[in-house]
Amino acid sequence: MEKIIYILLLIILENDFYKDINTIYNPTNYDFLINKNNKLTNGYVPQDLELIDINYSCKDKYLRKEARINFEKLSKQAKKEGFNIIAVSTYRSYEYQEKLYNNYVLDKGFYYADMASARAGHSEHQTGLAVDVADLSLDYDNFESTKEFNWMKNNAHKYGFILRYPKAMFHITGFKYEPWHYRYVGNDVATYIYENNLTLEEYNLINSR
Ligand SMILES: [Zn+2]
Repeated sequence: MEKIIYILLLIILENDFYKDINTIYNPTNYDFLINKNNKLTNGYVPQDLELIDINYSCKDKYLRKEARINFEKLSKQAKKEGFNIIAVSTYRSYEYQEKLYNNYVLDKGFYYADMASARAGHSEHQTGLAVDVADLSLDYDNFESTKEFNWMKNNAHKYGFILRYPKAMFHITGFKYEPWHYRYVGNDVATYIYENNLTLEEYNLINSR
């Protein structure tokens, strides 16, 4: 049922999504928007990608330096309190995202692909600032039902991360609810977004005025 509602919404909103696309060439801050209306170039690769400590990630996972440092701090503190927050998907190249999206289209059709996956250039994972997390099961699809999710809800902002695709915000973010996907925006912005219950889209709109 939920899926049908999303698909209907997507059909209604498809005039806005993936239209009037703005290209971000060289992001210098941490709170810039990448979504269905803002994209990175196919050649964009962050220059400060760093490997995440294997204690807090699956094999070979990279984030930009500041996001990597803060994710490790987050994960370390969670572990101390008895929670295991593991990075399962982080930086993805333009080419890899292209493959992922195309596979979704082949597998589940065009509308489902646009609801659940980003077209190449439009994925936050290309920024090197986004991380999909899970508990020790590594099954991020079930992350919402874990005690780790509850910890993330209350603590992620203290380390500069926001829940990027909150429930029922599809009409604004363009993506279905993803309890596992967090975006690094820096401590001050994350705290502001958390305290005011905003999406990154709303935050950017308020700040562009
Ligand atoms: Zn993600």
